[in-house]
Amino acid sequence: MPWNRPWLLVVLLTLILAMSWWHWRPAGGEARQVRLLMGTTVEIVAFGDNQRRLEQAIDAAMDEMARLERLLGNGYPESDPDRINASDSAVTVAAETAAVLDLGLEIAQLSNGAFDLGLGRLKTLWGMEGPAPRVPDAGAVEAALAGVGPTALQLDGPQVTRRAAVAIDLGGIAKGEIVDHAVALLRRHGIEQAAVNAGGDMYLLGRHRDRPWRIGIQHPRQPGEVAATLHLADRAVVTSGDYERFFEQDGVRYHHLFDPRSGYPADACQSVTVVAESAVLADALATALFVLGVEDGLALLAHFPGSDALMIDAAGRQHLSAGMAAWLEQP
Ligand code: ADP
Ligand code: MG
Repeated sequence: MPWNRPWLLVVLLTLILAMSWWHWRPAGGEARQVRLLMGTTVEIVAFGDNQRRLEQAIDAAMDEMARLERLLGNGYPESDPDRINASDSAVTVAAETAAVLDLGLEIAQLSNGAFDLGLGRLKTLWGMEGPAPRVPDAGAVEAALAGVGPTALQLDGPQVTRRAAVAIDLGGIAKGEIVDHAVALLRRHGIEQAAVNAGGDMYLLGRHRDRPWRIGIQHPRQPGEVAATLHLADRAVVTSGDYERFFEQDGVRYHHLFDPRSGYPADACQSVTVVAESAVLADALATALFVLGVEDGLALLAHFPGSDALMIDAAGRQHLSAGMAAWLEQP
């Protein structure tokens, strides 16, 4: 009996108190921040017990994204793409840039050039980023494609050489890499549960409180409606769609994902969502699959085990890779 052993009673009571504290302890803090970066809205939300640490980690991750935007983006005088485009000879780039180029060039090869890091001149010609995008004349499109192809850029360690006519543009892959760096930074700060969302390029770190994150995939033709809902943890998800950035001329929709074979917007898909272990891979694959269309796209995906896709073709039909159903919320 504990009554003649009072110390046992103390031990039992302490145990009960500790267990109930553990059960009823505060659910943990949440911190959130939004910044305008890379021409889009970037949001980071993180969960954890230490509020100060959450806020410092998010600040550091956002600062890192801003630094990488100036390194990997076109239009910054000291960015690696702009230095490459301004030079006639080999340029030594940062390790982060070399990593992006390495993966980008691999996907360019494997996609037979459907994914191409050398579409800078074509992008400028269409004026997609500017205030007055327009359909260029056919001759100008052809000229902007001169020299383009999977071998137009060469990477040798940190050295990049470009075929003279070609301008490098990392727009189809850089955002994913930047999201991955933000996640790595959050992890280094001890954060285990967070979401980084750079205008649809996302990484979900750990779980959302005690269950997977629920991510809605925008319906490409019905604004505000979801085409599917995913349940994810420790995964990246990226969507490329023809509804993200486009203009209409004479009743035709022109968007920002180009088929390098024609120089015109690719027309096989309305949207492609890729789930992968890193955001950089998901980003590049989403762009590549969009251009390739369903059959060739799913064949490219098979080179990257652990990656899955939901493709919505030009007629609005959904196509899933073999492993994709596992991520989908069943209706
Ligand atoms: P976003 O999330 O910015 O819409 P995406 O990953 O969908 O980006 O890629 C769109 C960008 O990729 C374009 O703005 C352009 O910079 C670049 N791009 C367009 N077509 C291709 C292509 N065929 N291969 C590689 N990059 C491309
Ligand atoms: Mg992309």
